[in-house]
Amino acid sequence: MVYLILSDIHANWEALEAVLRHAEGRYKAICCLGDMVGYGADPNAVTDWVRANVPRVIRGNHDKACCGLEDPVHFNPIARHAVEWTREVLSDENRDYLWNLPAGPADLGDFLMVHGSILDEDQYLIDAQDAIPQLNAASGRLVFFGHTHVQGGFLSRLVESSPPNGAVPGRTTICIPPGEGQLLNPGSVGQPRDSQWRAAYALFNSDERTVEFVRCPYDLETAQRKIREAGLPRPLADRLAEGR
Ligand code: ZN
Repeated sequence: MVYLILSDIHANWEALEAVLRHAEGRYKAICCLGDMVGYGADPNAVTDWVRANVPRVIRGNHDKACCGLEDPVHFNPIARHAVEWTREVLSDENRDYLWNLPAGPADLGDFLMVHGSILDEDQYLIDAQDAIPQLNAASGRLVFFGHTHVQGGFLSRLVESSPPNGAVPGRTTICIPPGEGQLLNPGSVGQPRDSQWRAAYALFNSDERTVEFVRCPYDLETAQRKIREAGLPRPLADRLAEGR
């Protein structure tokens, strides 16, 4: 079985569309690690699509804030502005959908999915110090996580970021030996923060036990224009081009 692993789409319809075109015909199942909304200008289009097409979804911190489940007290002013804007434009159906999303971890048998970490859905896994307790908690399972918007992850033997930040040339495939704990991040579809603007996703082949990290270009200018035209803070458009 090949899974298309999506995370942190962040209301970027152009990036999502490009990823789906790019991965077309290569997967049998789709799952999403949270943060469908927040930052971008298309929260309804993205959430409508996820609702209709992705059976396995967990919530992210922006999903909680944008549906009103949590107040964005820890968000910076720009992110908070985007939360308030998203709350105003979300349809009732999409607000209800986000409200009722389960928290991670979700166990899909072949792997676990979490937004932040196994132990805390809002935790950022940035370095080996963050990863070691999580690899212990994973006890040999494969875990896909999001939240940092950095494609790569941590292997139990090496406990290092792999592939290193910003060094993904377009496609990188790694093998997952059975029983070896791995924390892997497919990267962010709609707002990469690893110094590359291209949309990120991963394909996991559970029979061959390989994970392919992929980047694909998308219509960046249109996504940026929509953010500006929506009256969202301008840095949210600018940062997409810089991958930060
Ligand atoms: Zn996010």
